[in-house]
Amino acid sequence: MTKIDGATLIARSLKSQGVDLMFGVVGFPVVPIAVAAQKEGIRYFGFRNEQAASYAAGVAGYLTGRPAACLTVSGPGMIHAIAGLSNAWSNCWPMILLGGANDSYQNGQGAFQEAPQIEAARPFVKYAARPDSLARIPDYIEQAVRTSLYGRPGATYLDLPNDIITDKIEEEDFNLPPYCPAPPATLADPREVKKAIEVLRSAKQPLVIVGKGAAYSQAEDQVREFINTTQLPFLPTPMGKGVIPDSHKLSVASARSDALGGADVVFLIGARLNWILHFGLPPRFKEDVKFIHLDIAADEIGTNVPCEVPLVGDASSVMDQLNTALKEDSFTFDKDSEWLATLSEKARDNEKAVEAMCDDEQVPMGYYRVLREIRDQMPPDHLLVSEGANTMDISRSVLMHDEPRQRIDAGSFGTMGVGTGFAIAAAAVSPEKKVVCVQGDSAFGFSGMEIEVACRYQLPITFVIVNNNGIGGGFDSLDRNQPNPAQYTIAARYERMIEAFGGKGYFATTPEEMTTALKEAIRDPNPNIVNIMIDPKAQRKPQKFEWLTR
Ligand code: ADP
Ligand code: MG
Repeated sequence: MTKIDGATLIARSLKSQGVDLMFGVVGFPVVPIAVAAQKEGIRYFGFRNEQAASYAAGVAGYLTGRPAACLTVSGPGMIHAIAGLSNAWSNCWPMILLGGANDSYQNGQGAFQEAPQIEAARPFVKYAARPDSLARIPDYIEQAVRTSLYGRPGATYLDLPNDIITDKIEEEDFNLPPYCPAPPATLADPREVKKAIEVLRSAKQPLVIVGKGAAYSQAEDQVREFINTTQLPFLPTPMGKGVIPDSHKLSVASARSDALGGADVVFLIGARLNWILHFGLPPRFKEDVKFIHLDIAADEIGTNVPCEVPLVGDASSVMDQLNTALKEDSFTFDKDSEWLATLSEKARDNEKAVEAMCDDEQVPMGYYRVLREIRDQMPPDHLLVSEGANTMDISRSVLMHDEPRQRIDAGSFGTMGVGTGFAIAAAAVSPEKKVVCVQGDSAFGFSGMEIEVACRYQLPITFVIVNNNGIGGGFDSLDRNQPNPAQYTIAARYERMIEAFGGKGYFATTPEEMTTALKEAIRDPNPNIVNIMIDPKAQRKPQKFEWLTR
């Protein structure tokens, strides 16, 4: 008879449920879990702070459709990882947080790093529990995996006391439950499917909005077929980019304001009418616009504005339903319509204005020139991570993606500082791809130390720091007596940081220096930093509405 410890049982259970990635920081009492995870064939990435590790686990779940684990020590470590739990909650991404905890027989005694961890996790998770015996660990893990995936995806939490991790159990005294399959297909009411087609057919100014729920559902084939059949104009949300190629001729992304403001029918595919879409309200949308809303979560339907046609179900399955229904009763939107003509004219005008800014060679550079260079140098098979307010917003209109899930950004929670952890996760998920992580200098600073992780694991990431000397920029000198709250060190040489860990750093202030540096950096399979100084006063092209309109 052989005995195994709780740590091994935890690792084996995770592996048997298809959890292949773990991001964390070890210490009491979780060292044995990380070691066991590696033995069981889970790839473990040791971070420098739980915050970035927890962001990494969330985005890995988004990219793969299977939750990744984040492993933390008790107390402070677990608390730091609430950053990632809340980010996964806000974005509807699956992940499992494994929080180490004090021995259960010391509960309430003021144990080392004792904290109300389950209670702390609760508002951000779909499931929070503490295994009550070793034999039941596999059940708890199966339940945490299943709950994170089924229905609207989200985070789950398991609290793991030291005694559960270190106690031993006979091999024949536990059972591993079967592998939890991908979520069962959920279909929309066929009457609503018919109605959706009728409403779209009779629309004069229809618009399809493709969100990150469609990307998560891996509905790209179905959504592409739908657009190609109906010839309806579409625009992606920031992370819906690439579900249909950005280069598709029916994309009206460059005429976003006019498309949203003029549409009489909007078909939302896995996107919420939250702040990113201005709550579905005027003046961004027409007063009487009709919404057709496809979402896996019934309770999302009708949020902020009434819904004309609810399509509750998984995006790829429901889009299949629509495509099947269209085979019997097809329609094609009029390619000569005034709506399309107006939108494409507006799109062309906006693209011209953006291109002019992209071609501006003046020094110091603006955001557009920097992002154009990245666009020109990035291989088609890239993964892009983008954050930092202006850097991220402008990158939506300059950087183009023809494949789904190629762009990861600050997301629904608008979280700054996610980029470095996201980039590490992206490289872990797709080791064959080049990861380009474009961050403002302030965004980079949140988790700058995590570049050591990228170097240690030799991940092919180029960190591009768009440096304007602070939060939102505006400063070219530092008042040392009383620095402005929004400013950081002027012309900080962030690229030198990576040299401490064996990576290469580049510094650029002119278009020529930038071009040379990016060419080399993006081809280099090792991690590197390209620190690019821009005009601290550089701005975004004037917008019809600010991003956040109330
Ligand atoms: P965006 O920022 O792109 O608008 P959101 O995160 O606001 O995206 O919305 C994504 C929506 O997608 C969420 O309401 C979520 O419930 C939904 N969703 C998640 N998975 C699926 C799926 N498989 N099918 C359909 N909708 C999904
Ligand atoms: Mg900045």
